[in-house]
Amino acid sequence: MVERRKIALIAHDKMKEQMADFARHHQDALQPWQIVATGTTGGQVQDACPKLNITRMKSGPLGGDQQIGAMIAQEEVALLVFFVDPLTPMPHDVDVKALMRLAILYDTPMALNRATAEVLLPAIAR
Ligand code: PGA
Repeated sequence: MVERRKIALIAHDKMKEQMADFARHHQDALQPWQIVATGTTGGQVQDACPKLNITRMKSGPLGGDQQIGAMIAQEEVALLVFFVDPLTPMPHDVDVKALMRLAILYDTPMALNRATAEVLLPAIAR
């Protein structure tokens, strides 16, 4: 089995600001990890956290969620931080379900809100 070296960050719609803020507060804890993110989320986190080395996938609607899903299926992801925006309609619904299903299947720690991310990040610390 591959060592899980990646932390994946995905934020939908208005949750991107919260993701950037979360990453800024935890830059030191995130730094040893390979950070992967969907395109726009990754750009905003990179602006907030210049120290981090972030690999940006495609934007979510163009397949970025699925690219991260493939990494989960390859058991490369130690933590998925997935901030879905609960106040928007459901255009992302199929992506949300697909990614959650893979995280469950591959027993991948998954934070769907900031409080959970705050608990899980130190728990997987290297
Ligand atoms: P984005 O993708 O970070 O490129 O916006 C996330 C999404 O909207 O699925």
